[in-house]
Amino acid sequence: MPELPDLEYVRPILEEELVGKQLRGIEVFEPVVLRNMIGGSLGEFSGLVFRVLRHGPFLTFALEKAAGSAPGVSKKAVAGGTGSRAGTRKPSDDLGGIPEPPGNSGGLTQKADEGLAHGLAIIVHPMLAGRFRLNGKKQSSTAIRFHFEGFHLDYLDDRKMGKVYVCKGSDASSIPGYGKQGIDLLSSDFNMDYFLNAAKKSKKQARVFIMDQSVISSIGNAYADEILFEARIHPKTRMNQLGDDQRKELFQAIKSVIAEGIRTIQEASPDLEMKYREHMKVRNRKGEPCPDCGTSIRRANVLGYDSFFCPSCQPDGGKGFIDWSSLPGKQD
Ligand SMILES: [Zn+2]
Repeated sequence: MPELPDLEYVRPILEEELVGKQLRGIEVFEPVVLRNMIGGSLGEFSGLVFRVLRHGPFLTFALEKAAGSAPGVSKKAVAGGTGSRAGTRKPSDDLGGIPEPPGNSGGLTQKADEGLAHGLAIIVHPMLAGRFRLNGKKQSSTAIRFHFEGFHLDYLDDRKMGKVYVCKGSDASSIPGYGKQGIDLLSSDFNMDYFLNAAKKSKKQARVFIMDQSVISSIGNAYADEILFEARIHPKTRMNQLGDDQRKELFQAIKSVIAEGIRTIQEASPDLEMKYREHMKVRNRKGEPCPDCGTSIRRANVLGYDSFFCPSCQPDGGKGFIDWSSLPGKQD
């Protein structure tokens, strides 16, 4: 469930709650969710949270390990991470317009291990169903509980597909997918030139292309459908079938739909663990009328994933461009 706009909402809230707080132990209810890369028991695991970062679809709590209890972390390394509290921002700071790169102080890491090289990290990959809850009661989906002084944070996961890694910051890039994230789409490096250059080399279906996290970090299933609807592109259209104008429209749609998603969720201000999808125009709306033309929204399978689209606004094959897939030797 958590996609970039969701994490952009959750991250500053957790930053506000956790930075400067001492973690006093990690309770594991679902071992399948945990990847303990430092070894040993986590029941007494302690450390001071000094940053909460987002790296693509990952959320990271950067920790200074308490002196004397850090396997493999020197005092010198620990000292290197202090003083980052100045980078803390309130959730409201993220509001407004197309998000510009928040930089390090905004919790966005462009390089896989930036800001994490010293000390330890808890890195959460919520996948489809991961959620956070503060001070909740244990329930069937409670997978991991982080104990702080006076409160706790739960990681919940109905599907148990997400992962919580406990590792040295310097090992973050060895986490599956972490080191392979492409340009963050909120970064200033994600610009028209970058996008068009990557797009012109690709023959992938548009939906598959924009969800390739090694190119664009990161777009999930829900926002991929919304972006393609905004750009009026059928999800199975191959990138090399798109005209220049359509590729530019697709880039603009990525920027505008994600920015709108961030703004909408911020304004709705849902509970931390809530899945906020009210603003979705086509996602999970099969059979409902298209908000623009009234045609029934359809669902299609794109490489094993459900995709929702309007067959009128997003015609198969599109208009005004050559269908290269119909040429001999090309697969559709
Ligand atoms: Zn329509």
